Amino acid sequence: MATQRILDFLATRRPNGPCLVVDLDVVRDNFRAFEKAMPESKIYYAVKANPAPEILRLLAAMGSSFDTASVAEIEMAMDAGAPAERISFGNTIKKERDVARAFELGIRLYAVDSVEEVEKVARAAPGSRVFCRVLADGEGAEWPLSRKFGCVPEMAVDVLRHAKSLGLDAYGVSFHVGSQQTDLSAWDRALGDAKMVFEKLAAEGIALGMVNMGGGFPTRYLKDVPAAQAYGQAIFEYLSKHFGNNIPETIIEPGRGMVGNAGVIRSEVVLISKKADNDNVRWVFLDIGKFGGLAETMDEAIRYPIVTSRDADEKSPCVLAGPTCDSADVLYEKAPYPLPLSLTIGDEVLIEGTGAYTTTYSAVAFNGFEPLRSYVI
Ligand SMILES: *Cc1c(COP(=O)(O)O)cnc(C)c1O
Repeated sequence: MATQRILDFLATRRPNGPCLVVDLDVVRDNFRAFEKAMPESKIYYAVKANPAPEILRLLAAMGSSFDTASVAEIEMAMDAGAPAERISFGNTIKKERDVARAFELGIRLYAVDSVEEVEKVARAAPGSRVFCRVLADGEGAEWPLSRKFGCVPEMAVDVLRHAKSLGLDAYGVSFHVGSQQTDLSAWDRALGDAKMVFEKLAAEGIALGMVNMGGGFPTRYLKDVPAAQAYGQAIFEYLSKHFGNNIPETIIEPGRGMVGNAGVIRSEVVLISKKADNDNVRWVFLDIGKFGGLAETMDEAIRYPIVTSRDADEKSPCVLAGPTCDSADVLYEKAPYPLPLSLTIGDEVLIEGTGAYTTTYSAVAFNGFEPLRSYVI
């Protein structure tokens, strides 16, 4: 949340306009908490959550590996000091020329979820390790990932068999249980599917060696979430349940859980108004909205804690909206947000838990608003 270092930075630097401030000490603590909670798993930080060079450098120096989705992200991780052996090309939808470029850069670990993609990887990155992503239902996640990535476990068997026949190393299975996942049993179901793929291929003489358990580890917004330790313990129990004494190598890919609580957005109230004299809901417009970095408020999925200097005063429900001229730029309306009655135009508000999926979602110049500025301290 807003650490003293973040508050001091804002008080002394007084940056103009909305901005994100990320405290690296929190990222460091999060990395250590993951290491401690899941000592047997390799950590591949999901770069898309926040690719700030300072964050990537810190994690590279701490020994983290990186989950990337494009050549640009691979290069960012390498520039931050990560060797190619610690980088996975985890997007199941890649141009063949990007696979070729990644191969040139030394990347040897690729995600696939179709035989069509396997063909590309076999041509452009011969002999590499591939893992096949299986669908997960996303139930229990506040930001589910839909059916865009992954295939049914039965198809994963075909995909990995095909990979092997083309000279690739059929290395393992991956899944992502959905982002901000607070239901631990989601990993139980997904590990059961992974085990099925292991067994079917073992029966054909193909021995897989790795399960990539993806991201989904939650950060704290308004509600408490289980700590990393609780996740680690539950996941270890599910691994034992499904794999017995033969637990394979495992990978985790935290994004939100690594950086979400490390960042705070400082914003300003631009207008407080009503649509009719007898409305009891006020409209509060901030200088940041869906297009300035708060895209995860889509469908009111992620509800950020909002802190003002008047929080001791009586509150009433408000519709919260962004500054652009797009009518979709409303953050919370179905479930109005309680804000102090004394809140005034020009007041500062802090939007907490915004270290993940904010700068990367911010538009370049919609309506002339600058992309979200970020300071990593
Ligand atoms: C986005 C993504 C992640 C990170 O997910 P979080 O829910 O932020 O932890 C991990 N793995 C893959 C393949 C992803 O696309």
